[in-house]
Amino acid sequence: MEPQISVVAPVYNEEVLVREFYQRISTVMACIGEPWELVIVDDGSRDQTPEELDRIQADDPDHVIVIHFARNFGHQLAITAGMDYARGAAVVTIDSDLQDPPEVIPELVRRWREGYEVVYAVRAEREGETWFKLATAGLFYRVIQKLTSVTIPMEAGDFRLLDRKALTYLKAMREHDRFVRAMTSWVGFRQTGVPYRRHARKAGTTKYTLGKMLRLAVDAITGFSVIPLKLALWSGVGATGLGVLLALVVLVIRLGGKAPLAGQGLTASLVLFVGGVQLLTVGILGEYIGRIYTEVRQRPLYTVREVRCPEGYRQLP
Ligand code: UDP
Ligand code: MG
Repeated sequence: MEPQISVVAPVYNEEVLVREFYQRISTVMACIGEPWELVIVDDGSRDQTPEELDRIQADDPDHVIVIHFARNFGHQLAITAGMDYARGAAVVTIDSDLQDPPEVIPELVRRWREGYEVVYAVRAEREGETWFKLATAGLFYRVIQKLTSVTIPMEAGDFRLLDRKALTYLKAMREHDRFVRAMTSWVGFRQTGVPYRRHARKAGTTKYTLGKMLRLAVDAITGFSVIPLKLALWSGVGATGLGVLLALVVLVIRLGGKAPLAGQGLTASLVLFVGGVQLLTVGILGEYIGRIYTEVRQRPLYTVREVRCPEGYRQLP
């Protein structure tokens, strides 16, 4: 029987957690009582995770699909692959480190049954996160909200349910530098949130380093906004205006017969200011050109070493 609900989970070096994760998912899904599948994407793990996943798949071959990436592609591409392979009428994406409790899934499904096509889980409380993570995350959401036209619900991560209708559009968006959260907001449909308590990580450490978070922030902004490009224009206009004004002031002082407004300090700071503004704008241009370059190469989004799947599995178009 074709699964009604697919659960998609990215996994990267979580050897101590995957078994418990699978058990909690299968308990919850059995309670819901509809045909289900669990699509686990092994994002090029280098510990015992791949072997453990194959064992889980062998133990429950009817429910579990395991996709082994050929290398580490990152969380966003791992959930993308999971969505590509999922067959359910509804697809739930969830982290595999048990920070997102699987017990929230029935509530997501209930809202979906009420007619919502996108149901995201909203972190009402967060446990075990550093103040630094909370502060940077808060700043991140505020900047995104200001700079882009899509509204990403505050405190909604990648734990959400998508109806097949919304998913079809999401699957058609093959951009490389992805920020799936904003992309799901972009597709529209009837969306709603379900509050939940985000737990501390069960074991292991976060795989989202500061560098990766910064990258995600830049992807989110450049992927959904051209305001930084306009910023370049505005600062150009501003600097030019200031320059003209200064020239006029110098002219007036000169005509008045007094000493000109001069000195090496002033010249040096003007040169630095103009140079800085120029490099900044070139950098912003570079970000966008980099994105264009990645897109025109048209490489596949990820590479798959092996797929372990139930008998009769057929990938949907
Ligand atoms: N993950 C992944 N590839 C990566 C990094 C992380 O598939 O390169 C997975 C990881 O196993 C976890 C989820 O993505 O299930 C979220 O990662 P993490 O818990 O490290 O991020 P945080 O919750 O701290 O933001
Ligand atoms: Mg986590």
